Amino acid sequence: MEKKEDNKSSPPYAPGTHVGTKDIYQKNITYTWWEPEIQYSWSLGPAYSKFLQGLKEGKILGVNCHKCDRVITPPRSFCEYCYGPTEGWVELKDTGTINTYSISYLDPNANRIEDPILIGVISIDGARPDPMGFMHYFGEMSKDEIHIGMKVKAVWKPEEEREGSITDIKYFKPLRGGE
Ligand SMILES: [Zn+2]
Repeated sequence: MEKKEDNKSSPPYAPGTHVGTKDIYQKNITYTWWEPEIQYSWSLGPAYSKFLQGLKEGKILGVNCHKCDRVITPPRSFCEYCYGPTEGWVELKDTGTINTYSISYLDPNANRIEDPILIGVISIDGARPDPMGFMHYFGEMSKDEIHIGMKVKAVWKPEEEREGSITDIKYFKPLRGGE
């Protein structure tokens, strides 16, 4: 008589062993460490690439949405109001207005610091301010001086140090008369 096969859909009970972080530190288990060397590049798309190229040349660029009659910066390939394509590049001034800011007593690595970092969002002159702008550092001003509505101007890195990055602008300083 043919033997009936066991039901393979229900394997025998296997309780396993719970492993926690403590087991790793106490070397109760064998483990291996592998550092992958993965190289990749990230395409920013046509709008942002041109914007960064502009920064390298010391220019803040924007694009038009003709339908909404607005200049957008940082630029994008479509207008988020009407979803139509943007077209036509505009060179904007490197001045603007602080529309929000923060006084941070933590550095980028979350270490406590004595002198606060001033950071916030600037609406660039010539671009529609609502609800746009880009985030950057502020300098040459104190935490008591900074305020919403303050006029500011970009302080650029020397041309030979620029690399097509938002940090080609070092920070924004107060725009005082005659500058
Ligand atoms: Zn639009």
